[in-house]
Amino acid sequence: MIDFADDAQDLFAGYRRFRAHRYREARDLFYRLRDGQEPATMIIACADSRADPAMIFDAAPGELFTVRNVAALVPPYDASGGLHGVSAALEFAVTRLRVKQIVVMGHGGCGGIAASLAAAADRPVGRFIAPWVELAAEARDAVLRDEHIPRADWQEAVEHGAVGQSLTNLMTFPFVHEAIENGGLSMSGAWFSIGKGELHWRDPDTGQFSVVAAEDPSADQDNKI
Ligand SMILES: [Zn+2]
Repeated sequence: MIDFADDAQDLFAGYRRFRAHRYREARDLFYRLRDGQEPATMIIACADSRADPAMIFDAAPGELFTVRNVAALVPPYDASGGLHGVSAALEFAVTRLRVKQIVVMGHGGCGGIAASLAAAADRPVGRFIAPWVELAAEARDAVLRDEHIPRADWQEAVEHGAVGQSLTNLMTFPFVHEAIENGGLSMSGAWFSIGKGELHWRDPDTGQFSVVAAEDPSADQDNKI
């Protein structure tokens, strides 16, 4: 028998729980999905282990087409070549899968956003991380210029701003722009508070985030989404 590392044993234990519970419940669904997917939603989220879109949205197999990277960033359209992982996934989701909505979801305590702030203070960040988190530079610099935002709030403000920046960058992709113009695609921003387990949704007009009701909104009359 192969002697796997202890770390792998943890994964195997999780796999067995999956097989005993979630897979058993969704076995027919997995079987129906074996030859293709038709997800209505694309989620662009951070790679962070604490902010898993499938868990937060309690999604079934086949529901979410997900791309995760450092800080949930989307680069602008760039036709000059290179290895564009996010752009390839975006192209596939929009032009082939024809998803109906794209959600960019940032989160609290994001290490990628912290790295962006560190870079602005000339502190060293990783070789690959540094240029990547520069995608959030415009949003970060807008926060740093705003005298009304106290230092203690910089991190969260940049996390919010970076979501808006990614939404702006999404619009630079011709096929995204076209799908939105045709009415076949919408885009939204979100942010997840890890400490509170709270989902916040972005107002497209103001760029402000407000908490999504954790209970059925039809049961109360407040103005939360
Ligand atoms: Zn993150």
